Formats: sequence, C-alpha cells, structure tokens
Amino acid sequence: MVTANPLKRRGLLFVLSSPSGAGKSTIARMILGADDGIGLSVSATTRPIRAGETDGMDYHFVTNDEFDALVASGEFLEWANVFGHRYGTLKREVVKQIENGRDVLLDIDWQGTQQLKQVDPDIVRVFILPPSMEELERRLRSRGTDSGTVIASRMARAAAEISHWAEYDYVFINDDAEHCRKLVHTVLKAERLKATRRIFLHDFVRGLIG
Ligand code: 5GP
Repeated sequence: MVTANPLKRRGLLFVLSSPSGAGKSTIARMILGADDGIGLSVSATTRPIRAGETDGMDYHFVTNDEFDALVASGEFLEWANVFGHRYGTLKREVVKQIENGRDVLLDIDWQGTQQLKQVDPDIVRVFILPPSMEELERRLRSRGTDSGTVIASRMARAAAEISHWAEYDYVFINDDAEHCRKLVHTVLKAERLKATRRIFLHDFVRGLIG
C-alpha cells in the first residue's frame, strides 16, 4: 500500500504586496501567527531602522556597501529601489524553507514581484488595496512613524504601486483587517491543495492503478 506523504512537497512562495499603509503588515502578522506552515522571508534593506523594529526580525538592516556586496555575490532572488532605499529578498531566507516543504511569505513591492515571477512562475501573488486614498493617508498619519514629507511621497508612490494591481492573482480590499485576513488565508489554503503542488499524488495514484 502506498501511503500519502504530504511532506513530499516543495513550499510555495506567497507574495503579499500593497501600497504602504494598506494593512499588509498586519495581515501578514496575523497569518504568520495563525499558520505554522508558513514562515516569513526577512528582507535586507538599506533603509534606516525605525523605532519598534528589530534587526533580523523586521529586516536585516545593512549599509549601502553591505547591500552592494550581497548583490555582487548573487545573494538576492530579487531586489529593488523603493522610496530611495534598496530592499531585497535573500535566497537563504527562502530556499531552505521551501525545500523543507514550508511556505514562505514575502512582503515585497510590485518590482520584486515581477522579478520573482521570472525566477519562479509558480508563485502566488496577492495584492491588498486600501478602501480609499483618504483612508490610506489617515492610516499613514496615525502610525506617526514618518515625517509629513515622507507621508506625502508615500501617497504619491501609492498610486503607482496600486496601478500594478492587475498583475496579481488575487486582489482584496482591506476595509476590515480580520475579513481580509480570512480571504488571504483562504487563498493560501486553497493554493496548497492544488494537484500540481501535491507531489505525493503521483506515487499514490501509481499505487492505485499501477
Ligand atoms: P517599509 O520601508 O515600509 O518597510 O517597506 C517599503 C516597501 O518596500 C513595502 O512596499 C515593502 O513591500 C517593500 N519591500 C520590503 N522588502 C522588500 C524586498 O525584499 N524586495 C522588494 N522588492 N520590496 C520590498
């Protein structure tokens, strides 16, 4: 008898994008807290650390020279310039987890998503929209982490980020974080069940019909 081995599976790359302030980080945190089968890819960035952030947990905060060295030695799956700072997905953050059958959540922008799609066409892309631009600005201001100038520039960039919504597989409006979390989590669970991702089915069916 052939037993189904659900561990014989490569993890999937689960990309979450949105303009800054649309609630993506909250939703990512909720999913990571509720689901043991998915881990976060901690990006490297040259942007300065913010109050409340921890190096190695929120990002690997690196200098421009360190980022250059990572690029030169081919450590990134993708990287991009966002708001004047560089951000990149480190191969080592992703490869080990997916080889162990764990899914990986990537909080990256549209540029990184496009690059990643070239590297791995099997990625799942989810985009989170704010309910309105007024609400987006209100959320950015209530964070109190950025100066007015930074908020103005992020609002200007938000429209550009949103303009890429149609490049994603799933697009949700975040007017309620818990509802949006449920939708995103439903997508993750359904994507895991796709026949193409359940590699053990090949052996199982061979056992059934030879
Ligand atoms: P923040 O500075 O607010 O943490 O992030 C700014 C933007 O950079 C967010 O839209 C976030 O998704 C994006 N970002 C974070 N890490 C990466 C990464 O590794 N690659 C790319 N392409 N974008 C990233």
